[in-house]
Amino acid sequence: MQHPDLQGDSLVEKTLEESTLPGITEGEIVVIRSSRRKKNISAYRQGGRIVVSIPARMSKADERAMVPEMVAKIRAQEAVATMSEETLLIRVAELLTQFAPEISARPASVNWRAMRERWGSCTGIDRSIRISDRLKGAPEYVLDYVLFHEAIHLEYFDHGQEFKELLARFPQEEQAEAYLQGYEAAENALTAPEALKKLLNKGA
Ligand SMILES: [Zn+2]
Repeated sequence: MQHPDLQGDSLVEKTLEESTLPGITEGEIVVIRSSRRKKNISAYRQGGRIVVSIPARMSKADERAMVPEMVAKIRAQEAVATMSEETLLIRVAELLTQFAPEISARPASVNWRAMRERWGSCTGIDRSIRISDRLKGAPEYVLDYVLFHEAIHLEYFDHGQEFKELLARFPQEEQAEAYLQGYEAAENALTAPEALKKLLNKGA
């Protein structure tokens, strides 16, 4: 399927030279300058390449600054998708060390689980954490936020004041909450109650 940016418009497509962006293989990143695009910049994976679409008028300096950022974003999302359970275990330890060093408990296991109702859960008795596989497509900071939440439960079982204070140390708490709530709202909209479905089908 073609991306809308590739249709119609007069586009200049070029491949970044290796020297422009250290650590990026030649031919992996394709930058498209779109004359239709005014301000925003977007990136998506297309096979073995990452395509970054930028406004035609963007300066070279801005391109050099912003393209690696977009590429890093795409890679971080892919990193979540392929994160092994061993890596999750290490990540939880890192998060606790960084944001809640007073918690010495560490999980015995962290597992991906097909969970629709919850983002994560923690069982104190065997120190096991489960993470919803819906997070496999989420940005890294969202996964970190859910991991950190469950990790705090190793020490505090309810969502009391102490729990909240620890959780608030996570720097992107608000953005992560917004992401999770937005995801749930979209899910709920897709599984709208029968009454709403009937209303929507009316006149069809
Ligand atoms: Zn909780």
